[in-house]
Amino acid sequence: MTGSEIDTFTAWLIRFTGKGVNHTNAEQLADKLVARDRQEDDRRHCLECLHLAGFGAGSWRCKNWEQAGIAIHARDSALPGDLVITLQRCDGFKAIN
Ligand code: SF4
Repeated sequence: MTGSEIDTFTAWLIRFTGKGVNHTNAEQLADKLVARDRQEDDRRHCLECLHLAGFGAGSWRCKNWEQAGIAIHARDSALPGDLVITLQRCDGFKAIN
């Protein structure tokens, strides 16, 4: 990894564990994002999004559910854990930085 990739990897690790992903899984996810960025893949996952709320699978929900097309009522804005870590193109996505 380049110095820049290491910095980004570290930032993702902090973000992902801060959202309740265990350290091993967070490292694997961050590795995948390094590979994604090298391939110039424009897909993102919810853990990179400002609108992800909650801590840990089972509590995650989308605060931008209407634009994202996740739900038609806020009460239905919960996000399955598998979806949160799936690379996708979401109309509601906003990068955390
Ligand atoms: S706006 Fe899209 S990418 Fe962001 S948390 Fe909601 S579903 Fe995930």
